[in-house]
Amino acid sequence: MRVADLKTLKENLWRLFKANLLFDKSEMSIKDLTQFAKSDGVSSDFARVLTQFSEVDCLMEKQPLNSSLYDLIEMVENEIRSRQRHISVSEIQTLKRCSLQHALRYHGRYYLKNDDKSYLRIGSWTHQLIERLYVDYGYDGVELHGDAQVLQELKEILEKWKDAAQAGKSKEESDQIEIDTAIAFGCFYAYYVEGFKVERLQGYTLTEENTEKYFKLPILSKQGRKSPKYRFKGYMDQLYLGLDEQYYLGEIKTKSSWGKSGIKHLELDEQITGYLWQLKQQGIDAAGVVYTILKKPGIRPKKIPVYQVISNDGSDFFCEARLQRDAELIKKQAYKDGLDVDVIKQKRIETAEEYAQRVIEDYKSRPEFYFFREIVERTPQQIQAFGRRLRFYAKRAAENTIENAFPEPADPFNNYCNFCDYRDVCQHWFDDEKKEKLLAINFSTPRERAFEKIKLTQANDELLGDF
Ligand code: SF4
Repeated sequence: MRVADLKTLKENLWRLFKANLLFDKSEMSIKDLTQFAKSDGVSSDFARVLTQFSEVDCLMEKQPLNSSLYDLIEMVENEIRSRQRHISVSEIQTLKRCSLQHALRYHGRYYLKNDDKSYLRIGSWTHQLIERLYVDYGYDGVELHGDAQVLQELKEILEKWKDAAQAGKSKEESDQIEIDTAIAFGCFYAYYVEGFKVERLQGYTLTEENTEKYFKLPILSKQGRKSPKYRFKGYMDQLYLGLDEQYYLGEIKTKSSWGKSGIKHLELDEQITGYLWQLKQQGIDAAGVVYTILKKPGIRPKKIPVYQVISNDGSDFFCEARLQRDAELIKKQAYKDGLDVDVIKQKRIETAEEYAQRVIEDYKSRPEFYFFREIVERTPQQIQAFGRRLRFYAKRAAENTIENAFPEPADPFNNYCNFCDYRDVCQHWFDDEKKEKLLAINFSTPRERAFEKIKLTQANDELLGDF
């Protein structure tokens, strides 16, 4: 069976798995499910999918009748993965860092439980706003509508994302989302003023089709033949046509800090070389990469003076003003109303809203402080060498399983072990026996995530059914 057919089979199995009727029996063996399907009159679809499955000899060897529906999905998935392996730059980077970390993440596909990926929020929202700027408006659209309207409309979209993210969250989480929203808007503002507006004047062209493009390309053998198994995948942020009529790849990153060492690092950045390589495979000889860094703010919530109006004996708090003058006016009015109040000067930490407002004002007052752009180039030899490395890493990644992987702890100059999700289950740091137990407690498997996702979909469907 061809990979494309296996993918169709997987989709069909998913459909069955998701069906309400079968979900309650998701752990039932196929043998029992078949009986159930027959008696319940839903057999034709079920039987068709099972017949499709039985046509794959290598899967039938695995005794599927005693397995559950999800086991079947996993069997098909593993078969697809054994025939087709896609690798990204971040997977290569993980593999280069540590073989065990790579195997747990990409082979076992263990993900931290309750990881809401909130640390990606600022970058993701900033990217989405920039994408909308180019796709929904473009240089001409901005000219037509004017800066104020474009910025306002995109800010409203961001506010909607914020409201959705805050729904049902604790005060602490909501505050963090408020701050992240301000930073995302600040980064976007800096990009708008220092990047978008300037490149328009410089005569760059960037269109809808070449913004946020997903690519998946065959890796080449030594002889230049396209591999049927290994592919290189990724997301390309932008593709520009410069004034010099040359193509430039655009990459945007949000970072907490940026300086000389960051610029130096760009010379070695595998992503830049890899993306130029993939463009070359598509017949585009890009002259370089327009690398944009949007810096996150260094300012932190601070203590601010406030004037509190309270009852003279301190027992009742009335209100708070940022200016002494305002507080005195409130006090005067209170006297007239017969209240015995006083004004006290205090200091308190900014609220999330106040801090967020200050962040936005800071970005607006000095966008150039938050915006950096470098043009990075690679020689044809460097790009060609990446193609060779890619072959090597793709093969190594496919062979690197949890069974044969080993920990490669960080040296004193790289503290990546401290940022590794798997530190608590790593045998370098802990007793190996604990590994299985801790993996089960702290991490979710693809199977658990699949069940969770379907439960969530069902809950949403039930909720919508009420309307
Ligand atoms: S803690 Fe360090 S050695 Fe262990 S898996 Fe993570 S990166 Fe590898």
